[in-house]
Amino acid sequence: MPDLKGKVALITGAGSGIGRGCALALARAGATVVVADIDEGGAAETRREIAAFKGASRSLKLDVVSEAGWRAAIEEIADREGRLDFLVNNAGICIATPIVEMSYASWRRQVEINLDGVFLGTRAAIPLIARSGGGSIVNISSVAGLKGIAGLAGYCATKGAVRLFTKAVALECARARNNIRVNSVHPGAIETPIWVKMANDGVMSDGGPNSIADRMEETRAQAARATPMGFAGEPADIAGAVVYLCSPEARFVTGAEFVIDGGASTA
Ligand code: NAP
Repeated sequence: MPDLKGKVALITGAGSGIGRGCALALARAGATVVVADIDEGGAAETRREIAAFKGASRSLKLDVVSEAGWRAAIEEIADREGRLDFLVNNAGICIATPIVEMSYASWRRQVEINLDGVFLGTRAAIPLIARSGGGSIVNISSVAGLKGIAGLAGYCATKGAVRLFTKAVALECARARNNIRVNSVHPGAIETPIWVKMANDGVMSDGGPNSIADRMEETRAQAARATPMGFAGEPADIAGAVVYLCSPEARFVTGAEFVIDGGASTA
């Protein structure tokens, strides 16, 4: 494991799933983690898990679609931590709806969170990461950013855009010689609460005929069938790549796409 002591990481959507996995892994590697989410309860749970191994963290309520929120978050990190080394643009939603049935409001919400949020975060963070001597920005895209998936047209549009946004910003940073590397990570099916939210306009539902556990079980079986390796991944499978991309070992890696999907994108 690389030694990231003295480094500061900001992770969006870190109160659940893949974001929480990245927060735990970066904290284990020694970084101080700013656990950002709109879900304060989820962020608190992530911090409890980090505290259990005496890792360093604090929480930050941040809606990634808020331009003012991003400005305030970066100013606060500059004041409190004095530096920023890593940004993981992870917050995202998935709305599984056939395109002819998708409302414009749902389309817009998905674009705002998955794409505008990545733009706002990247733009806000680059100056502070540059002043800190450079670092790493990791954008969590998806297999859906590499190939079309029926029922996920809007989601595919946002994740494909994140993929190319990443490459363009990587080249801008390289040209600016600011020592900031920018890469995308493309998970396949990873078992997280997004599986339950995706059939419900991207938000958690508490009712319905099937319990959350039933729906997770159903999706787990579907994910296993759709994945050549025959099983779904876990947040830790993604977090390992994120830690690598933040480490000095990745010093020559920028504009790259890391596919972690049990073979799904090659099938
Ligand atoms: P998750 O468990 O639902 O976690 C996403 C977190 O982001 C939640 O805490 C959510 O809060 C938060 N969030 C939503 N909107 C936000 C906003 N506007 N500002 C800040 N935080 C916000 O999902 P996940 O599976 O970990 O997904 C993380 C990322 O991985 C997403 O970008 C997703 O598209 C990507 N991904 C996931 C998979 C997979 O199979 N799990 C596969 C490929 C890519 P609420 O719960 O309150 O909404």
